[in-house]
Amino acid sequence: MIRLTTENTQNAIKRCKQLKPRVKYIKDRLFVVYSANNSNVYHVNFDVSNGEKLGQCECKASERGLVCYHLVAGATANIYRQGINKAQKH
Ligand SMILES: [Zn+2]
Repeated sequence: MIRLTTENTQNAIKRCKQLKPRVKYIKDRLFVVYSANNSNVYHVNFDVSNGEKLGQCECKASERGLVCYHLVAGATANIYRQGINKAQKH
């Protein structure tokens, strides 16, 4: 999995804002992101280890250890969902 930091996610966040890919929730920490450029779909999943955010995508960029916009799209949805869960507990 790739460690997600403020630095290495910056370009992907820009791409994600431009492309606005659709994201579908599968289950906890697992999402499907629809490519903005073609009909590909990518599963992205997340984990937290020692307070560090980790993520993995199925695309070529992620295979090379790069943070892709799919990961950012999924991470954004993940954070949003966790926010909803917290709100529901109160
Ligand atoms: Zn990707």
